[in-house]
Amino acid sequence: MVKELHSDVSDKAAGIDVTDGFEPFAQRNDIFTRAFWDPAVRCARSDAFFASYRMEATPRRGDGFGQRDFALRNASWLISDVMTDRFADQGRREGFQAPISADTPVAPVALKVTDSNEMSREIKKVARFFKADLCGITGVDSRWHYSTRIDTRDLSDAPNNLPEGITSVIVLGHEMDADLVDTYPAATAGAATGRAYSQEAATVMQLAAYIRNLGYEAVPSMNDTALVIPYALQAGLGEYARNQMVITPQFGPRLRFSKIFTSLPLAHDSPKPQGVRAFCDICTKCAEACPVKALPFGPPEVGGTNISALKGVRKWTSDAEKCFGFWAKLASDCAICLRVCPFNRDFRKWHHRLWLRLALSPLRRVALWFDRGRGGRKKPGAWWSAP
Ligand code: SF4
Ligand code: SF4
Repeated sequence: MVKELHSDVSDKAAGIDVTDGFEPFAQRNDIFTRAFWDPAVRCARSDAFFASYRMEATPRRGDGFGQRDFALRNASWLISDVMTDRFADQGRREGFQAPISADTPVAPVALKVTDSNEMSREIKKVARFFKADLCGITGVDSRWHYSTRIDTRDLSDAPNNLPEGITSVIVLGHEMDADLVDTYPAATAGAATGRAYSQEAATVMQLAAYIRNLGYEAVPSMNDTALVIPYALQAGLGEYARNQMVITPQFGPRLRFSKIFTSLPLAHDSPKPQGVRAFCDICTKCAEACPVKALPFGPPEVGGTNISALKGVRKWTSDAEKCFGFWAKLASDCAICLRVCPFNRDFRKWHHRLWLRLALSPLRRVALWFDRGRGGRKKPGAWWSAP
């Protein structure tokens, strides 16, 4: 096993437990890629799931699943889709199955960086300017990079290479709309996901262009190239939870992550474990709420139930086949396990910050008790009619 860690982050501090059986993940085993080649996943329903994103085969099942709901969801994905499809004829579904191509050359003269701490501060300021909600920086760790990516023309394995000299990974968090998340499961709610992806496409491309204009390599990346969750943990943005998400002190689990691989000299952040793991140990709300029981109830374990699980890491792992099967049935994404999570709160508000302090203290059971009755589904129709 190669561990090429340029940062000084320890696995223990990041809450990562890698065992001897670790294997880098091949992207062809990702559940969304399997939906195109694996008969165990691909079916008429999964084909209809993807078709619904083109307004084909959209079901009509009442509140949250009407034409306007799918129209909103699909429109919210538009910017991401336009970027993703640019080089489809070359087998590159960028942002998902290939890193995003550079739109700006690297400036011939590089800005001299004398203080990497100051450079990191500036990058976070520029990330914020380009609408990132969170930004953390860590070193390259090749364990999280896909062993191979996918050429989408024939679903063959393709090399997953980055330019020489990459030393840092800038991890960006993108908040999902709270009101729409409250309506999961619904096509309406899928607009929260699509809008976050469209925003992250714009943000990573602009921030990478800024770095390239400074004279350094920068590769914008969404779900492609490497697993973003361990990078978000190493960059100190949050802690890993039972629902397979990163829980952050600002937005709980209600955000998506993107990343930029760069050669710009940057100081790295450190993980800040605060007690999410201990809270998840006493809480199973996400596992109970999952309609197909795809989330585990017990402690973190090594491996999973099928080939979409990362091998050799002790962690909470969902049954991706069950989870995606439910998405296909809905013809939309599901995030019930996000909606019901007690950390799904707006921590900009003082009373939620007070709850957070309780949840991360030895009085976490009291915090869980205070959470009873929260996390119910709001009607998508109410979202449409709200002023
Ligand atoms: S996304 Fe839905 S189906 Fe998948 S694990 Fe979460 S609650 Fe279960
Ligand atoms: S619902 Fe409970 S167990 Fe699940 S991720 Fe949130 S805090 Fe952890």
